[in-house]
Amino acid sequence: MPTFSIQTFGCQMNYSDSERIISFLESYQFNFINNIHKADLIIFNTCGVRQMAEDRIYGQINNLKQQHKKLLIVVTGCLAYRQDVQKRLKNQVDLFFNIKDFNKLEKWIHKTFSLKEKSFLDFFSSKKYPTAHKISYLSLTPKYSNFFQAYVPIMTGCNNFCTYCVVPYARGREYSRPAKEIIQEIKKLLAKNYKEIFLLGQNVNSYYDKKQKINFAQLLKKINSLPGNFWIRFLTSHPKDMSDELIKVITSSQKICEYVHLPLQAGDNEVLKKMNRKYSPQHYLKTIQKIKNSFKKNKPHSPFAITTDIIVGFPDETRNQFQKTKEIMKKVNYDMTYISRYSPRPGTVAWNFPDNITLEEKKKREKEIEKILEKTSLKNNQKYLNKKVTILIDKKRGESFYGKTRTLKNVKVISKNKKYSVGNFYTVKITQANIWNLEGEIIE
Ligand code: SF4
Repeated sequence: MPTFSIQTFGCQMNYSDSERIISFLESYQFNFINNIHKADLIIFNTCGVRQMAEDRIYGQINNLKQQHKKLLIVVTGCLAYRQDVQKRLKNQVDLFFNIKDFNKLEKWIHKTFSLKEKSFLDFFSSKKYPTAHKISYLSLTPKYSNFFQAYVPIMTGCNNFCTYCVVPYARGREYSRPAKEIIQEIKKLLAKNYKEIFLLGQNVNSYYDKKQKINFAQLLKKINSLPGNFWIRFLTSHPKDMSDELIKVITSSQKICEYVHLPLQAGDNEVLKKMNRKYSPQHYLKTIQKIKNSFKKNKPHSPFAITTDIIVGFPDETRNQFQKTKEIMKKVNYDMTYISRYSPRPGTVAWNFPDNITLEEKKKREKEIEKILEKTSLKNNQKYLNKKVTILIDKKRGESFYGKTRTLKNVKVISKNKKYSVGNFYTVKITQANIWNLEGEIIE
């Protein structure tokens, strides 16, 4: 049977989607291989967030097609819907498909590989899923790429239309998976001893199972009540949808990690309006304060972490406006900030705004944010010195083990003890606090 490989770019949601593409193709007896040069078919699961990522994909597709004339290439993900991309790659790519449209992929497979009849519906019990159009690809059982951490998408798409973002165009409107199905998937993972469950969605805060009337806070509660020793994480939250009910559940549930990622993007009200973010800096800061107070009240002895995303150099952003982002950075004391230099994306509203902040200025602003982050990150990390924390080991290199705390701090542990292993929890005493990580020794 044909061999296939997959190249995934971008966010966790794309990696999670790729796990579903792999299981789907394997059900047709395709053989998955890592070596892209030996594959008959390569799926590119693309990201359109930055021009640089996009250019890398074009380069890779061109090179592969030149080296392997008979290679079949399929493109999905954030670039697949764009007319300009389809035009540019029309001679190299055999199929573009929207990630939600597995039926299109299936039809193409049948046609291209002359397979015997088998249908998308074979994945499901026909009683439960009577018609194909009602089926979401999220209901497919994925081939997890890790034996102790799993991505579990709970929703996809977005209704927010931030002016710089391609997601609402690439993935369409919000769709929430039935809570029952999510719980079933997690139960199966826990039965296999998975330790860390990442709930994924573009805006998990607005998750809503219409049939069962279950919102995100209620879903979290249900997952938290499942038996077993495991951690729950989730990505991504939107400041406008972070309700008091949700804050209470996040900060008081035993299995939910003490970590909140709340994208700020910009600290100035005018810039936020232009980004169509639908919250003010005041609202953002008030929400952060609520989260901090609630952690202190509900888990007084646990450290917690707050992280964010910032875009520097959005069209027309003045130095003065940027200054306000820096002020919020200092007020919040973030543990981590993921910084992007603004990159105009075709098809978005902001594509029509002049990209009038120079690259040099964007880099300068990026550096200024980094400087503040280095200080706040180190200050926060120093709070861990001489403290005992639980880590989940996720890597071993030589005699060093690497893991993460519940607050997503990277911890390095040096030990010759062979009984420690990847995929397990250990208690560590922190002996060193650096800007970007902690070091320690395993106690038990
Ligand atoms: S909330 Fe905004 S940035 Fe996030 S996926 Fe939706 S449109 Fe994009």
